[in-house]
Amino acid sequence: MLPSPRVLLSIDYEPWFALTRRYDSLSDASQRRDLDGGFTLRAIDPILAMLGEAKASFYLVGEIAEWYPEVPHKIVAAGHELGLHCQIHRPLVDTVELQQDLEASVAWRSHFDIRGYRAPMVGIDEAAYPLLEKAGFTYSSSIYAPSGNLLQKGGVWELPVSTLSIFGRSPSLNAPREFSTGLLLGGEVPYGSSFMIGLIPHLIFRILEREIRAGLSPVIIMHPYELARPEAFLRRLGRDVAAHPLLFPFTLDKSNFLKTLLKHFPVSPLGTYLDEAIHA
Ligand SMILES: [Zn+2]
Repeated sequence: MLPSPRVLLSIDYEPWFALTRRYDSLSDASQRRDLDGGFTLRAIDPILAMLGEAKASFYLVGEIAEWYPEVPHKIVAAGHELGLHCQIHRPLVDTVELQQDLEASVAWRSHFDIRGYRAPMVGIDEAAYPLLEKAGFTYSSSIYAPSGNLLQKGGVWELPVSTLSIFGRSPSLNAPREFSTGLLLGGEVPYGSSFMIGLIPHLIFRILEREIRAGLSPVIIMHPYELARPEAFLRRLGRDVAAHPLLFPFTLDKSNFLKTLLKHFPVSPLGTYLDEAIHA
């Protein structure tokens, strides 16, 4: 039996510039910290306040824990789940890169007993799961798939970010299953992505309602810059959005979406749901 249906709310807690992908190869840690300009520190209190009594999963970019050690402490103290997004934000589909990144995050991960992983850009290879298991993870949420799927990948559970399968097909759920034209052409709408939330928020609520009525617990992603606004966000992103218009939905303020979500839907962290699902 599935646990009681609810929205599994996740926040990929990353610097505002992660969105642009323009700084993926910026290797100087202090330059990345300067670029963030204190945003990830300033955003945490308003976001925690917005959540109120509701609990979510925060997948943290590990270097934020180095910049501002109070950020992970505040997340945990407020009763939320803390997970790993990556140590430094960039694609980690390549398992060699992923292994290096996992090693770079060992110290804070073991301090906080981290067990959940969300791959950057929801991009992961099948070969990554044994690495995650070895690094002490019990679950990952790093592919897109229809709600209701809880997959066993060796010793690691995969709890996918939600899609809606328009043709009702049962696709192969091997990684990678990122947000791609292939996914869309296969008839899957990745509505758990904050891209879709930005594009069609009202429709997303209707989908969530339908899924929950069907006893499912959809997984959705939000980002800190969608809930608390970085300074001069749109001006700084203008060039990126002009070059890549598909970035636009990520730049929208989604605080009202979150408020409406919390008002009308039960939510929980992914880890809580997983524990209930396994024990059931
Ligand atoms: Zn990310």
